[in-house]
Amino acid sequence: MSRTVRVRIAVTLFALLGAWAAYTQNSPTPNQNAPRPAVAQKVKDGLYMISGEGGNVAALLTDEGVLLVDDMYDRNYAAVMDQVKSLSEKPVRYVLNTHQHDDHSGSNARMLAASVEIIAHRNARVNMIALKQPGAPRVTFTDEMEVHLGGKEVRTRHYGRGHTGGDAVIYFPELKVIHTGDLFLTRPTQPYIDYANGGSALEWTKALDEVLKLDFDTIIPGHGPLSDRTGLLKWRADFETMRNRIGGMVRQGKSKEEVSQTLVKDFGWPPGGLAIAQVDAFIAEMK
Ligand SMILES: [Zn+2]
Repeated sequence: MSRTVRVRIAVTLFALLGAWAAYTQNSPTPNQNAPRPAVAQKVKDGLYMISGEGGNVAALLTDEGVLLVDDMYDRNYAAVMDQVKSLSEKPVRYVLNTHQHDDHSGSNARMLAASVEIIAHRNARVNMIALKQPGAPRVTFTDEMEVHLGGKEVRTRHYGRGHTGGDAVIYFPELKVIHTGDLFLTRPTQPYIDYANGGSALEWTKALDEVLKLDFDTIIPGHGPLSDRTGLLKWRADFETMRNRIGGMVRQGKSKEEVSQTLVKDFGWPPGGLAIAQVDAFIAEMK
């Protein structure tokens, strides 16, 4: 594929991704209205979930500063920081990105300008640069990295391809909490397989199987309310059911149209552009 075509496809998918992000928030295109407010909720001692317009943010409070997981859209920076300031007088020191989508890493550029260190999987950085998204991290890792701040340990690990090719799951071992990014969602529950950025339906459940080996009892999902091990197990099973059904249709030679309709009607995928955009790659992977 020529570079021009590749860039054009990337731009189209990026636009469609915005549509999906809007869908996940049950709101019209995010940029048409005023930014939505954010709200903080206690998860465990010293750990909060900040939810709002973009993906869920985790805030770990320590004596040496605050560590965030993800930072929502660029336009949510003030709302996120207001919540952080209501929780701690200490500065934000690190943001660990779960992946490159701008509802999760859109405030990176502002964070970097405020001397916050951004850390992400190396493929997430590659994706950000390919998408010309500002705020690419200066620090990346290949398999796993640990951050030690104020006597607390945080682990960020890449379990393989899934939602994108650069997903990280962040683990707070002392608290037994994980932040899954968009590898797991509680509202809505439909997965988005970002094939253009390395996502994979086949690898997704393998990644989750590794995540499930961690010792945790609470999950901050990419979007939606808090969940737990039972919630993730059910979601993984539902994902497999969907994938098996689509795989069966592909083996029977069903058309792209039929596959798309099944995803929308039986599995609640958003109708229109985005579901369709994924279907060619999904079918190709199922063959
Ligand atoms: Zn995402």
